Amino acid sequence: RSKMSWEEIRAQFPVLHQNVGAHPLAYLDNAASSQMPQSAIDRLMAYQTGEHSNVHRGVHMLSQRATDAFDAAREKVRRFINAGESDECIFTRGATESINLVAYAWGRKFVGEGDEIIVSAMEHHANIVPWQILCQEKGARLRVLPMTDQGVLIVDALDKLLNERTKLLAVTHVSNALGTINPIAEIIEKAHKNNTLVMVDGCQATPHMKVDVQALDADFYAFSGHKMCGPTGVGVLYGKRALLERMNPFLAGGDMIRSVSFEKSTYAPIPHKFEAGTPAILAVVGLGAAIDYLESIGIERIAAREHELLEYATAKFAELDGVRILGTAAHKAAVISFEVEGVHPHDIGTILDTEGVAIRAGHHCAQPVMTRLGVPATARASFSFYNNRQDIDALISALATVKEIFH
Ligand code: PMP
Repeated sequence: RSKMSWEEIRAQFPVLHQNVGAHPLAYLDNAASSQMPQSAIDRLMAYQTGEHSNVHRGVHMLSQRATDAFDAAREKVRRFINAGESDECIFTRGATESINLVAYAWGRKFVGEGDEIIVSAMEHHANIVPWQILCQEKGARLRVLPMTDQGVLIVDALDKLLNERTKLLAVTHVSNALGTINPIAEIIEKAHKNNTLVMVDGCQATPHMKVDVQALDADFYAFSGHKMCGPTGVGVLYGKRALLERMNPFLAGGDMIRSVSFEKSTYAPIPHKFEAGTPAILAVVGLGAAIDYLESIGIERIAAREHELLEYATAKFAELDGVRILGTAAHKAAVISFEVEGVHPHDIGTILDTEGVAIRAGHHCAQPVMTRLGVPATARASFSFYNNRQDIDALISALATVKEIFH
């Protein structure tokens, strides 16, 4: 592991070192997409200039190199989330596709009329809508695990919600809208006692904390590369072997078959059964390099750094009049969702941009969270380990400008 200082680490992210007008960029939209370190950018370039070809097809040198790079990335993913086997790690185009894969390939086969699926009150649309469509198609019922005004799931409510018809519980590990870290192991244990499978949306967890899918006993675990210092266009679905093997295929075509005739086709073993067509090889290789980078710093060190940034920012927010934080769970990832009295979040975002501060404003693809908290939208600052106190100071100072303009 490297002993690099945070300043040296920040220097490795080229995109951060630019100005927005006269202001240095303060990039605080990491929950939407994080940035790539130079080492991962270099890896993309090296792959594209020296190794690129299609995977698993050719006997020639380049195809072998591309296949080696692709397979190596799968093993890095396995190690990163501590899956039992790399075959249980399926490459998708992103977490959205990972969840849809389960809704189609597992849901269409195993969910029927009168069955129930539970989603939590703080899910991203990606972990609601696929289940809603499935329920509509099958005549199944979608139920909601509620949360408190503070943005904390009411886990005990599961005791009443879970019943013999509950086939699946879909829950996020960390809320993208509020930052709440959910007690996933406890939730999974309750679901399993009821023979209910659990689909965990790990998008906001894998970049920020140690994830061990075996220790959690997760049945399915989904995440995206672009939120963890990798490129867009790649995501992962982890699933337990026994479940994946019993599922229908998802997309159909080349690479996912064992044999095809006009009468009948048989399917390849996992993970290939779920990887039809040419995968996003470049992005997969880039994700592997991003994982190497995160591990070179150490995920625990990253978590501690981000917690410190969160505490610093939360204390600064407390000094601001007319600013309210939404989501005040005791266990939070480095996300601050907030409102400024009398100012629409989009106006906040636009004014902040004029001072170089990049945040997100809107419903964060979690409209039911907004409805539950009685707000149309929030402004959201989300931190990564490469942020520093100057970024947060820039945010606080730009918020003072917002208040000057509107009061
Ligand atoms: N779930 C959560 C919690 C997210 O934050 C996101 C991305 N905003 C997604 C799912 C969807 O990820 P993607 O857009 O990469 O498919």
